[in-house]
Amino acid sequence: MMPWDKLKEECGVFAIADHPEAARLTYLGLYALQHRGQESAGIVSSDRRKLHIEKGMGLVADVFNEARLERLPGGYAIGHVRYSTAGESAFSNAQPILVDCWRGQLALAHNGNLINAAHLRHELERDGAIFHSTSDSEVILHLLSRSRRRTIQEAFVDALRIVQGAFSLVILTPQCLLVARDPRGFRPLCIGRVDGRYTIASETCAFDLINAEYVRDVQPGEVIRIEGDSLETQSPFPKERPAYCIFEHIYFSRPDSLVFGRTVNTSRQLLGKLLAREHPADADLVVPVPDSGLPAALGYSRESGIPFEMGLIRNHYVGRTFIEPRQSIRNFGVKVKLNPMREVLKGKRVVLVDDSIVRGTTSKKIVHIVRAAGAAEIHVRITSPPIIGPCYYGIDTPTKRELIAASKSVEEIRKFIGADSLGYLSIDAMLSAVEDKECYCSACFTDCYPTDVVHDDRQKELFGKNLAELLSSGPH
Ligand code: SF4
Repeated sequence: MMPWDKLKEECGVFAIADHPEAARLTYLGLYALQHRGQESAGIVSSDRRKLHIEKGMGLVADVFNEARLERLPGGYAIGHVRYSTAGESAFSNAQPILVDCWRGQLALAHNGNLINAAHLRHELERDGAIFHSTSDSEVILHLLSRSRRRTIQEAFVDALRIVQGAFSLVILTPQCLLVARDPRGFRPLCIGRVDGRYTIASETCAFDLINAEYVRDVQPGEVIRIEGDSLETQSPFPKERPAYCIFEHIYFSRPDSLVFGRTVNTSRQLLGKLLAREHPADADLVVPVPDSGLPAALGYSRESGIPFEMGLIRNHYVGRTFIEPRQSIRNFGVKVKLNPMREVLKGKRVVLVDDSIVRGTTSKKIVHIVRAAGAAEIHVRITSPPIIGPCYYGIDTPTKRELIAASKSVEEIRKFIGADSLGYLSIDAMLSAVEDKECYCSACFTDCYPTDVVHDDRQKELFGKNLAELLSSGPH
């Protein structure tokens, strides 16, 4: 496994309704969303009679070929790319999840994380449910199947009333496409139009590739049913204060995407500009840690007047695993991915711009290779505040104990990574880099979570209800 110390986005979703090239456009959409998950990829299509599935472990380009796409007939399709935490990268967790139940076939692709999944799963298992994966997304399908409501859309809403946390998801039946976003809207989800047909994606960069036009975001708490050219929408959940994940702007999303109604590149350049104001440095060069640090380093450079240089070159073709040499090479993992430009760095005072520090181990290695390439001084500048708490809403974070900023001061972190100075952007400045700052979640920087957050073994205590109570809790 690549020893790269970053928070990891867990998934990307895509869907399209009533288009003759549904599977192929989904394949392309997933290609554009590859940065949101690299461990598995899958597509389910519908020919209006039944669902067809192809999925596998690996990158979109590895999983799909001409023959597999040929086995996905029909005008409707949903797709998913997944990143999973260590030990859970089993094929059984790859999505979309396709099930047969008394309502017929259903397939689901989910981005996000349910905070009451462990409790719900326990209750469902006690009632006889058999799970095929460890993914919390499967809970939604079990709940949907248990609902006695007449239509699939009503049953979908019933199931979503019971789950809590983050979900941007799409469900395909042989006849229609269902779409939903949780009431706080943690993860992005957008609606587009291509050739007069509706398409859905986690980020707009997927629309650009297939020549689709961005229409609008799926609103927090919105549930949509798409069949043919008709789109029916409803907002069945109580209104909540939005909690868009600010990390989508800092790091996860592609800079060319429009996320939560704002271009990511604009936010990142502004983060860099604000960082230059809060933490100026007496230096010769501004160097980004590629790729995510790039727009912010440009912003820093423009604001400070210090020239921008590509002092680190990234190898884009590194897979997730590689064979190490028998004799250990110092900082091998980082060197595989980043190579320092000696002639750029030698003798220079460098501002090194990165988006975050998680455990601190990768930052330490990067500082070391930049210094070994001859830099005279290294001033690390981070476009987010210190991360002090884990994420419960669909981002893979280490435990609080492993987060370096949860237990060390900025000065202690500076010493640990070996930089001459270290500056983090303040929470206020970070929030001012996005519009509608009161609509954002920044819990991993503040420890103030927008929902109740409980560990698995305390979920029953908090969520309390047994399955019968849960299933009858919605308005009927
Ligand atoms: S806790 Fe952090 S990573 Fe998780 S949704 Fe909130 S801002 Fe995003």
